[in-house]
Amino acid sequence: MNSKLKLVPALLGWFSQNARDLPWRRTRDPYAIWVSEIMLQQTQVKTVIPYWKRWMRELPTIKATANASPGKIHKLWEGLGYYTRVRNLHKAARQIVEKHNGKFPDNFDDVLALPGIGRYTAGAICSIAFNQPAPILDGNVIRVLTRVFGIAKNPREKKTNAQLWRLAEELVVHASRITHHVSSSLSRTSRLRYTSPRQGTKDEDEERSARSHFNQSLMELGALVCTPRNPQCPVCPVKKLCVAFRENCAEELPNLGKRTTATARRFIAFVVGQRGRFLVRQRPAGVVNAHLWEFPNVEIVPNQRSSPAKRDESAHYFRKKSQSRLTSTLRSIATEDGSAATVQEPDLEIIRAAKSLGIEPPTLQPLCTVKHSITRYRITLEAFRVQLGGRSSTTPKNFGTRRARPSETGVWQSPAQMKRLAFTSAHKKLVSAATDCILSGR
Ligand code: SF4
Repeated sequence: MNSKLKLVPALLGWFSQNARDLPWRRTRDPYAIWVSEIMLQQTQVKTVIPYWKRWMRELPTIKATANASPGKIHKLWEGLGYYTRVRNLHKAARQIVEKHNGKFPDNFDDVLALPGIGRYTAGAICSIAFNQPAPILDGNVIRVLTRVFGIAKNPREKKTNAQLWRLAEELVVHASRITHHVSSSLSRTSRLRYTSPRQGTKDEDEERSARSHFNQSLMELGALVCTPRNPQCPVCPVKKLCVAFRENCAEELPNLGKRTTATARRFIAFVVGQRGRFLVRQRPAGVVNAHLWEFPNVEIVPNQRSSPAKRDESAHYFRKKSQSRLTSTLRSIATEDGSAATVQEPDLEIIRAAKSLGIEPPTLQPLCTVKHSITRYRITLEAFRVQLGGRSSTTPKNFGTRRARPSETGVWQSPAQMKRLAFTSAHKKLVSAATDCILSGR
């Protein structure tokens, strides 16, 4: 038997003994599996578990998701990042209600046509939920296949990528054939019997799960054993078949070429407080982190001849009109308040950033610094508390009127109100810092 044919029963046998008991493995509901697959893109299993459980509790059906408000779905996703995923999930749920009468489609092409679902996710749903022979190819699977079969070319190259998809397909198709072989041998030896952690061990069930389990076994091996660094080759169930193990080059594969170096970006945020409330704004549709809430902030771009105001994040992402409204809101507060300027952080760029948002004269106190990474960016967000003084009772112009949209002017929110809004992860930390300021009377 060649190594492709041997790999399938070896992985199925290992999976039956070692699969993690994950909550979405306790169901065959394609909706639940779909939600888990979307959450698992770019996010680790242990982070996803509580989010998935909460989502399924609050929105247990496709219809419930389709009918949920954008505020609700963003709040349920808050902290998971890559928010386009949840917006596409929302759109797709609505499409399923409209086009498929609320029933998740079981045809691969129909699944692939849904917003936010690519070939990998369609394959994962169709194989896991419907046991169809649909291949999957994500980072974990690429790592396992390139190592086991000794594929040294860059899997991002078109030809190599196509070769890997073909290989993944051959294997999952073979899984349903091998089931009969394994099942019949099970009557003599139970060593290779496999099943999901929660389901029975009948042959019939194994046949219904073979492709589902095989694809999951590839992902599971990549997650638990064939890891990017320090793969556990000595305990690997497929080491005898593995070219990389034999040639001692596991860590050199997959060959992903040169890594692009991360770009550092620096943002200055202003936590403007007035009488126990804070000025926050909502990012408009069509921009990064659309619909999420944040404190006013500016990107500092080094070595720019222009002032930060011309290169700030608002200038990039917010319409000019929106920015000028927010600026006038802040300026009106600062001017009417009339408190003396005291700048405790003598950083010219920060002062210029504050002025670009209309905070003039600035009264700033360093609050906290949040560092995080997104895709190829290393982001540093420095937050300053803006003190408006004790006498102010200013209500900014345009605030609270029907014509004024939150994304344009910003709105004043108490800590309790901010808890109900969805913030980006970095700005959520500023919400905590702002709340602490109130609690400690600062
Ligand atoms: Fe990965 Fe090592 Fe197993 Fe090969 S033997 S599949 S390199 S863990």
